[in-house]
Order: sequence, then C-alpha cells, then structure tokens
Amino acid sequence: MAIIVKDLFYKYTGDTTNALDGISFTIEEGEWVSIIGHNGSGKSTLSKILMGILEYKKGTIEIDSLILNEENSYEIRKGMGMISQNPDDQFVASSIEDDIAFGLENILIPQESMQAKIDEALDRVSMTEFKDKAPSDLSGGQKQRAAIAGILAMNPKYIIFDEASSMLDPKGRDDLLNIMESLHNEGKTIIMITHNMNEVLHSERTIVLNNGKIIKDDKTLEVMNDSSALDASNLEMPSDLYLYHELKKNNYSNEEVLNVLWELASRK
Ligand code: ADP
Ligand code: MG
Repeated sequence: MAIIVKDLFYKYTGDTTNALDGISFTIEEGEWVSIIGHNGSGKSTLSKILMGILEYKKGTIEIDSLILNEENSYEIRKGMGMISQNPDDQFVASSIEDDIAFGLENILIPQESMQAKIDEALDRVSMTEFKDKAPSDLSGGQKQRAAIAGILAMNPKYIIFDEASSMLDPKGRDDLLNIMESLHNEGKTIIMITHNMNEVLHSERTIVLNNGKIIKDDKTLEVMNDSSALDASNLEMPSDLYLYHELKKNNYSNEEVLNVLWELASRK
C-alpha cells in the first residue's frame, strides 16, 4: 500500500505560476517522510490535495490502489488524517469530546463503539482530563494534542502534520514528536511538513520542495549533507551543521574535525 503521485500540477485561480509544478513521488505505507521547503514552495497545497480538500486537474494520485478523484474521495479520506499549523482551525464542536465524536460520526462509526475510540485516543495524547473542556480553554500544545486525538480516533493509515509544531513551545514540540515516534513504531505513515531541523532528523526520508518542484528526495542524512538542498529548504541550520557546511564550502580538509561536526549535527 502506498501513496503514488505522478506529474502533479496545481494552479490557484488567479495565480500566474503553478503552486505545484509537475511533482512525482511514492510514499510507502509505514514510512516517516519530511517535506521541507521555503514559504510558498507548495507544501500546504500538496497536503490539501492529498486530503481531497483541493481538487487537482493535472497528474495522477493513487492512494492504496485507488485513484484520488471525486468518486473515491470519501473512501480515501477515511485513511487520511491531517493536523494543521493553526490549532484553532481544527475544531467544530464546543467540547473536545464532542469534537472527536463529530469526526467519528462523519465516517459513520457506529454509536456503540464511539466512546471506546474517543477514550483511547484521548488517553494516547494524555488529554483525558480535558475532554469536557472547550477548545478555547486549552493551550496551543493541548489543542494540538486534542486535534491529534480526533485524528487517532479515526485510525487513519496516513497522517500529515503540516507545520503542526510551529506554534508550540519546546515542551509541546517534544510531546508532539514523541507521539509521532510512537505512531511510526505502530506502522502509521507519517508525512511531516516542518521547518524544525530536530524534527527532520527523526524522519527517514526528506523531500525538498522549491517553487512547486521537488529538488531533492533522499534519505534524511543525505539531504542534510547537501548544502544547496538545505539552502533551498530555508531550514534554520544548527551551528554545528552550519559550520560543517561552511568549512566544506571553503575546502577545509581536516577530516577529523568535519567528522566530529557531522556527528554532532546528525544526532537526533
Ligand atoms: P507552503 O505551504 O510551502 O508555504 P503553499 O502551498 O501555501 O506553500 O503555497 C504555494 C503557492 O501557492 C504560493 O505561491 C502561494 O502564494 C500560493 N497560494 C497558496 N494558497 C493560495 C490561495 N488560496 N490562493 C492563491 N494562491 C495561493
Ligand atoms: Mg504551508
């Protein structure tokens, strides 16, 4: 099972350039892939297309052997979940529990099995005690965990995190990363859009988008070793990685020093 994207183009009405300009890739079930790229490179557009929120007209997308189109979109959406950047955009109901229930109703989960799914999902993200709270009563990190509970309850195979940690404090980011680690260990497919180098290092593979095109798609450590891919990605480089690349650019030749810097830079 896999997500297979071929020659995908997308242009917003009124824009003169393509937001996605002919991209192709395959993500196998169980992979943890980062998608990085500067603002406006097309990352969110791609996620929205994969989620069936935006409709593409050129190219093909196949998810678990079904072509993503109007006819199949309901079936496919059951297997897909997305957490977006803004925690506030993700709630419709007035309590966390009702919000998760609403999501389950949408995919026609029978009433009698709902409560168990809600309880389990809330427990996974340590949000049980907040189940009666309104989303507006929660901190940013709590909102993101509640949104994740909503997704987990639906048990999708593929989960897209679109800069989900960008509004969180360091503790919130660590919590989120731990949740991703455990989801990955259970075999979920994680597509993680991020600007955070520490998060990228947890993924096995990294795709770099630049102006709607894929400029690099490789093992994460290979991408970290490629200074032009990193420059295009707009990731903030930690000082050890920055120094490593600066020294290499200047033909610095002490291998031992370079190796130490690389070890520091590539540590999770
Ligand atoms: P990223 O998530 O990588 O920052 P986006 O996918 O949001 O990039 O944007 C890709 C391109 O599409 C940008 O040039 C952006 O200006 C344009 N774009 C995004 N959303 C819209 C929209 N709703 N209407 C018109 N253009 C848009
Ligand atoms: Mg975006």
